[in-house]
Amino acid sequence: MTRLGDDVERITLPLPTGPRHVHCYLIDGTLFDTGLGLGGPSWGDIHVDRIAITHFHPDHVGGAAAASAATGAPVYQGGLDYAQCERVWGSGDWPERIAEWFVCQGVPAPVADDLIEQGHAFARFIRYAIDPELVYEGSELAGWQVLELPGHADGHLGFLRDGVLVGGDHLLAGISPAVGLYPESRPDPLGDYLASLQRTIDLAPRIVYPGHGEPLYDPAGRAHELLEHHRMRLDETATALADGERTAYDVSIAVFGAELAPTQRRFAVAETLSHLERLVREGRAVRGGDDRRVTYTEP
Ligand SMILES: [Zn+2]
Repeated sequence: MTRLGDDVERITLPLPTGPRHVHCYLIDGTLFDTGLGLGGPSWGDIHVDRIAITHFHPDHVGGAAAASAATGAPVYQGGLDYAQCERVWGSGDWPERIAEWFVCQGVPAPVADDLIEQGHAFARFIRYAIDPELVYEGSELAGWQVLELPGHADGHLGFLRDGVLVGGDHLLAGISPAVGLYPESRPDPLGDYLASLQRTIDLAPRIVYPGHGEPLYDPAGRAHELLEHHRMRLDETATALADGERTAYDVSIAVFGAELAPTQRRFAVAETLSHLERLVREGRAVRGGDDRRVTYTEP
């Protein structure tokens, strides 16, 4: 536990992959996020009045049931976010459905099917809180204004109070938060994300406490950098369509290279798709093909 400000405690938990750590924050009795839930801290030793979840990804929501049971604190989660949390972690056939969907995006079956066994094994460890209190844009929680900041996740929340934004993975220093398109999700996640970045600039928080990495002291500056990053990535993605019809998988090889392990490839395809769908809305690409094989071309 690290004391960052007068009343901000940061609790850092290890992750087996990715950035290798995730931060939870305890501010005035509100615990923001709960880690993966594998060997977390003994939450019972910490005074917590309420638990707020930024988004349903495993490293943020996986420990929610355990933290709530140990502290007796209620869990607050976004309405859309909880619906997606149940769909992904609570339904028996999500890994099969998402694997099938990846194949429609041009992903070779072995690369897509690799996630099925992994997905089922993983889902057992994600102990999200059942039936949390649902919050929405405009809700208030212990003086925190609830903001919907979709992009990294469709139902991603931020919590704003006195110029302090607890931001989950909306804004990170040094890492461009993943913005992928997935099945049964909002149709234009990159469009959502660019709008959320612009909104962050307009809100002008003083500081952002992120889920990974160090606090951001120039959130608007970082939001501008990420807007620019995606503008360039959109151009690269459009360029990859110059030689005719392509699947998202083909484009992901042009943009991210051919040498990726299956898990990384699936992230790359989802990220490529969010850019392709943005290009479709900007009139710079056309979606074609059919339900079984989706393709993109220049207009
Ligand atoms: Zn995260």
